[in-house]
Amino acid sequence: MAIIQRKIIEISMEELTDVDRAFARHAQVNMDKLPKAYAGLVEKTREACMKAVKPAGVVRSVKIREIREESILLEGDGGRTEEVRSTFITELMRDCFEAVWFAATLNGFRELLEASGDLMEQFFLEAWGSAFASRAAAFTSDYARELLNKEGLCFTSAWEPGQHGFDIHNQQTAFELLRPEEIGLTLTESMLMIPAKSVTGLFGIAEKEQREMIPCDYCELRAACPSAYDSGAGGGFRCGGDA
Ligand code: SF4
Repeated sequence: MAIIQRKIIEISMEELTDVDRAFARHAQVNMDKLPKAYAGLVEKTREACMKAVKPAGVVRSVKIREIREESILLEGDGGRTEEVRSTFITELMRDCFEAVWFAATLNGFRELLEASGDLMEQFFLEAWGSAFASRAAAFTSDYARELLNKEGLCFTSAWEPGQHGFDIHNQQTAFELLRPEEIGLTLTESMLMIPAKSVTGLFGIAEKEQREMIPCDYCELRAACPSAYDSGAGGGFRCGGDA
């Protein structure tokens, strides 16, 4: 049996931490020096999200059957084999024996955004949406990390399909294993997640400590990316946030 059984996590907005910092990075604003003209709107859009948005996550681990040169074979449901295709991820998980997939989404956010007819308000809502989605993903993946810590196990950095060297088509494997439709998250044929403010990710479980491989360190967008990992800030912000 895999270490982490599939678990749906209903998340309350109040449980999400570090959201303001994530928002500031997405909106590229300094929260302590917000111009008066915008401060009220920032607060209003935050409050609107707090009232209307319902985050949810799903997480599970699966056994690794085989690590090949360019792919990893995972033990799926009913004895099926699921595949992760990426030379980068095979390197990341070289010493791992299970893989953790997680997903988080924001239900109600799109409706909130669509109801707004003001461009500035939409801009701040978008930034709050990205911030809450990334923190919901962190909350979901932390559920797994805490269980692993209790077992004395180690884990790799988390990577999201679409990041450097991790083809977006691996979303199909994430959706096959997580079945996130149950939390309102679906995938289109072109690999778009609906709702858009959603995050999926993968990390490996190992017996011993793993070398850190942070997606942002390999990403061409890092210089201009508001979500880039910031080791100096004492925490990681990664694609879609800091999951
Ligand atoms: S958070 Fe930004 S810099 Fe980091 S991997 Fe994603 S796009 Fe690249």
